[in-house]
Amino acid sequence: MASLDIAPTPAGPPVAPGAPRLMKAVAVRPGVVDSLHLTMLPVPSIDEVPDGRGVLVKVLCVGVDGTDKEINAAEYGAAPPGSDVLVTGHESLGRVEAVGPAVTELSPGDYVVATVRRPGTSLYDRIGTYDMTTDATYFERGINLRHGFLTEYYVDAPEYLVRVPAALRHVGVLLEPMTVVEKGIAQAFEIQRRLRVWQPRRAAVMGAGTIGLLATLVLRLRGFDVVTFGQRRERYLNADLIEALGARYVATAEVPVATAGEAFGPLDLIVEATGVSAVAFESMLALGRNGVLVLSSVTGGGRSVEVPADRINLEFVLGNKVMVGTVNANREYFETGVQHMALAEAQYPGWLSRLLTHPVEGLDRYRELIDTLSTARGAIKVYCNVAADR
Ligand code: BGC
Ligand code: ZN
Repeated sequence: MASLDIAPTPAGPPVAPGAPRLMKAVAVRPGVVDSLHLTMLPVPSIDEVPDGRGVLVKVLCVGVDGTDKEINAAEYGAAPPGSDVLVTGHESLGRVEAVGPAVTELSPGDYVVATVRRPGTSLYDRIGTYDMTTDATYFERGINLRHGFLTEYYVDAPEYLVRVPAALRHVGVLLEPMTVVEKGIAQAFEIQRRLRVWQPRRAAVMGAGTIGLLATLVLRLRGFDVVTFGQRRERYLNADLIEALGARYVATAEVPVATAGEAFGPLDLIVEATGVSAVAFESMLALGRNGVLVLSSVTGGGRSVEVPADRINLEFVLGNKVMVGTVNANREYFETGVQHMALAEAQYPGWLSRLLTHPVEGLDRYRELIDTLSTARGAIKVYCNVAADR
């Protein structure tokens, strides 16, 4: 077992013997708008996980996304019980520092990405599919009721830590967003077993942000002919990335989403990832017969739209179509994500790295992190380099 004597020297007065050593963490006060701040918290101990199953992880890199923006805007997120702050950050990459005596799955030096959700009490939680919980309350590290990873160290059980090979270390921070896509597409294939035989050919991805780009990648790796829709302003930024995968980029101003099926031929699968609920309804009109539409946008607002309800309903009925919502991802999808990342590096070398557009150095620059997320032009993935990898 490796030494646990790893805590960084905190700034400020010397720590009394026996007192917990402190580390930096970026947190919000849930319910307070724009409350992101730097705080000091005790370095966690591997004994926090019972039965010698604790793993202490040094955080290397943390990505941020729209969920973090909503949490800082006080639209989303809750602190763990007994805390008035929530440590943010759910897209992590770290390195194992130390393991408890009953951990055989991981060793110090391994690169790991943590899953986000932690089990509740439903049947689905108890069989490891916590992403499918039916509990009203869900627990997500960095999002809801559990601290996240924008800090120097965290402790978790090996069940929630997925090993990333050293050769993928440079893109490992993209694994969590990748898993959201993996789950949605895997669920579509599960659903289509209803058809006995499904030979899908053409897919559309609505949205050319990080999730849309990763969905385009996974669908290309699975052999789909892919059309990815973006807004016009994304054309010069992300169209190249889409075309580098052999997919087509289309601006919604040129081909309205609802007419995608007529323009490109029957769509067997659509992944909706624009963050705009109206596009979900337009996508319903674009779906081909026997097709499946995967909805993944978390739309926190209160918008209403008028839709051609009879037509949507009729075409779903007469065309045996399916629509499914998807959120989060369990360990299985993290493992598939690692495999697809390795395949992507072999088939489209360097492509994943091109998504890592906006690094921010160090937790101290948390303000720059959130500002870049809100304002940077051409940002695909904004992320914090928390610590050097040595
Ligand atoms: C995260 C998911 C999470 C979802 C809902 C997303 O940003 O990537 O892991 O389940 O937000 O909270
Ligand atoms: Zn996310």
